[in-house]
Amino acid sequence: MYAIIGTWKMSFDGVSQAHQQLASGAAAGDAVQHAIMSVEDNPAYTSVGYGGLPDHDGHVMTDAAYMDGHTLRFGAVLSAENIQNPIRAARLLCGRETNCVLAGRGAELFAMEKGLPMRDMRTENAMKQWREALQQENRKLDAYHEHDTVCVLALDEKGSLIAGTSTSGLFLKQPGRVGDSPIVGSGFYCDQRYGAAAATGLGEDIMRGCLSYEIVSQMRAGLSPQKACENAVQALSGHKMDLGEDAGSISVIALAPDGAYGAATTLPVFPFVAGTPHGVAIYAASPAPAGGMAIRRTNAAEMAKEP
Ligand code: ASP
Repeated sequence: MYAIIGTWKMSFDGVSQAHQQLASGAAAGDAVQHAIMSVEDNPAYTSVGYGGLPDHDGHVMTDAAYMDGHTLRFGAVLSAENIQNPIRAARLLCGRETNCVLAGRGAELFAMEKGLPMRDMRTENAMKQWREALQQENRKLDAYHEHDTVCVLALDEKGSLIAGTSTSGLFLKQPGRVGDSPIVGSGFYCDQRYGAAAATGLGEDIMRGCLSYEIVSQMRAGLSPQKACENAVQALSGHKMDLGEDAGSISVIALAPDGAYGAATTLPVFPFVAGTPHGVAIYAASPAPAGGMAIRRTNAAEMAKEP
């Protein structure tokens, strides 16, 4: 059995290629890296990698993580500038006993030492949007306008389960701000015995619920990935509402060691891509009126207005 799941429509090309690789016997780690790099390298996606929208001071600062479900080891880079593929740096850090999470200059030096390609991640389009946004007063940070994380979970024929994430974080974030995406247990978690999970949305909310660890814990307790995603999102968004806040912008995916997958969201529509030996397709998760999630198969044309 092999399976792969990625957040947002933007992961479709990379996940489809990685799905073919898995079908030909590729390792889950290579599939995750390939799918994420395809989004990082595409300047049309302004929330991840090259072409990402800058922080308040005009710098594109990226966060990424990679976790191995067999060893429970992980690597992460935080607030890193000019690393062309932050997921590659995170993967190289995974396996280290110490110093597996590097921030800022330390992450950049590590990437250079390892010979990873470095580049100015700012595109003309991103800098134009930044200049325009600075003119607008009282602009509110919003994870879903111009910012989504690519999260990919993959299972290979040998049973290895891997999780990866990559993002440039919130547009106009305060310099130094880090969201959930490189934070173990919040933006991602992967334990080959029970499953893997990852989150996208407002990192400040996702971290309050250690959401990815919570989902995997529920899978450990015997829940399906779908039910675990629904429960965890409902518990966190419900608690926020009990506190008088809105439900927040939270979307999650999960993958079980048997290849079953799940997704949940507080948004009206959350597109994700899933592939199994039966094929690969874009799906849309939406809160169902009777509770739980409605998941339907869709396509890029229908999802044209969604990220
Ligand atoms: N979770 C990311 C962050 O807070 C953004 C996103 O996924 O939309 O940096």
